[in-house]
Amino acid sequence: AEPPGSLVDLLRDAARRFGPRVALDFYGATTTYADLADQVARAAEALRRLGVARGDRVALVLPNCPQHVVAFYATLRLGAVVVEHNPLYTAQELDQQLTDHGARVAVVWDKVAPLVRGRGTVETVVAVDLTGALPRLKRWALRLPLPSARATRAAMTSPAPGATRWADLLAAAGPLPADHPAPGPDDTALLQYTGGTTGTPKGAVLTHRNLRANAAQGRAWVPGLRDGAETVYAVLPLFHAYGLTLCLTFSVSIGATLVLFPRFDLDQVLDAVRRHPPTFLPAVPPIYERLATAARERGVDLTSVRYALSGAMALPPATVQLWESVTGGLLVEGYGMTESSPITLGNPVSPARRPGTVGVPFPSTDVRVVDPDDPSRERAPGEPGELLVRGPQVFAGYWRRPEETAKVLLPGGWLRTGDIVTMDAEGFVTVVDRIKELIITGGFNVYPSEVEDALRRLPGVRDAAAVGLPGERGGEEVVAAVVLLPDAHTDEATLRAGCREHLAGYKVPRRVVMVDDLPRSQIGKVLRREVRDRLLAGH
Ligand code: ATP
Ligand code: MG
Repeated sequence: AEPPGSLVDLLRDAARRFGPRVALDFYGATTTYADLADQVARAAEALRRLGVARGDRVALVLPNCPQHVVAFYATLRLGAVVVEHNPLYTAQELDQQLTDHGARVAVVWDKVAPLVRGRGTVETVVAVDLTGALPRLKRWALRLPLPSARATRAAMTSPAPGATRWADLLAAAGPLPADHPAPGPDDTALLQYTGGTTGTPKGAVLTHRNLRANAAQGRAWVPGLRDGAETVYAVLPLFHAYGLTLCLTFSVSIGATLVLFPRFDLDQVLDAVRRHPPTFLPAVPPIYERLATAARERGVDLTSVRYALSGAMALPPATVQLWESVTGGLLVEGYGMTESSPITLGNPVSPARRPGTVGVPFPSTDVRVVDPDDPSRERAPGEPGELLVRGPQVFAGYWRRPEETAKVLLPGGWLRTGDIVTMDAEGFVTVVDRIKELIITGGFNVYPSEVEDALRRLPGVRDAAAVGLPGERGGEEVVAAVVLLPDAHTDEATLRAGCREHLAGYKVPRRVVMVDDLPRSQIGKVLRREVRDRLLAGH
């Protein structure tokens, strides 16, 4: 059943049921659910005084921090729309998105205030001072896209000029009157840009109903969670759809304590584990690998983590084994996309989980696997095809892009995922690859993931990305970029010979290029289009 109400109601319920419980923990500074609700009411009033009204967009350009959470719910409380941005975006990337969504008010980390002021339609920049946490943020802040080392140093040491300060604003505002109209289930809550893996990010319009449905489905996915008793780690960025929903809105829906990390820093996380053991840890595969390996080497106890939920990219079965042997808890995989708010399928926690698949549809979610060239034609079990999904979590469309929306939202509420999958007779889905990244060589389709898997199994290979580059006779040819392990003894000829043992001839990379690293998106996905550009440019 679809839950009624809004995300704001979920926070109000949590404050009512778990008032004195710690909602947020940021380097040991805690905020209870009662405090959080109070701060949200004051922040909502402050934003209202700045002119924010129902339907307006409010830009957030913040790392994970308590102010981020307060600004998020305060915006929603007014019936306004949150738009999340990565604080490490360049001025140009920010400008593009701010112009696209047209927010007039932006709440930002004060270090990036100079990049936001005057961009797009922004009139008011509210600056959040994270000085208390700054020593820990320092290394991160040094990666800010400020024009020069000197500007970076200045930004690190002086307060941002010309911006309204968040703390002053809150101190001056009383609470929003309780009878101020609250948002309804069909109001837009979030305009969330997609991950930008395959191109320029598109703004996905998500309603309160979408996000509440997703939180409720998440609960059904992990039935062992206890209300008001879990500790969730937010090591994923809240500005990404997966982190925002699985860490924040989900955590509030179960009255959990959310421990906020501005970025994934292994030492900081391991340090926090000793003080405040997590019970629920949503993340991505590289994080589980690093945590489990470090915990094993340094004897850190991770057995408090009963559930770990991996998403956003393929989870290697070896990572599942490693994680589960170190923690004794379960590492299960989910699949979704920003456009479906964002979780759609998940491996059931018990008993039927199948590592290597992304599991079965969430409750009240329907799926079909179809011919991408003719979505009315269903595929047989086991046959690859495009995944279509339908359910209460499916978004309302892309922001001001009706043609893009029409391409993915089919009549009857079906969302085209753009992903090729197979589904077995029992409904377990395996993700093969994205349609956009298929390589067509000599009339054959090659899934890059298959080539990458073959390469990763060879001795000395740490990681690989396969792409199609222009080949002879106008077609494409498979080329792979490979990152070697530090002590590897291998070369291009050996790797190609190794591939020949696992792959049909036309799938074997014509060239294998050794590289130092693979470009990744904000959440850690390999950016094959960038690999392609680099290979084309000859480095
Ligand atoms: P863009 O749409 O801007 O190119 P993106 O698709 O990476 O970026 P997201 O919405 O964050 O943006 O990611 C959704 C995509 O991530 C899915 O369509 C799918 O390709 C991939 N994905 C998500 N979960 C998994 C998973 N468990 N295994 C494999 N791929 C996954
Ligand atoms: Mg996408």
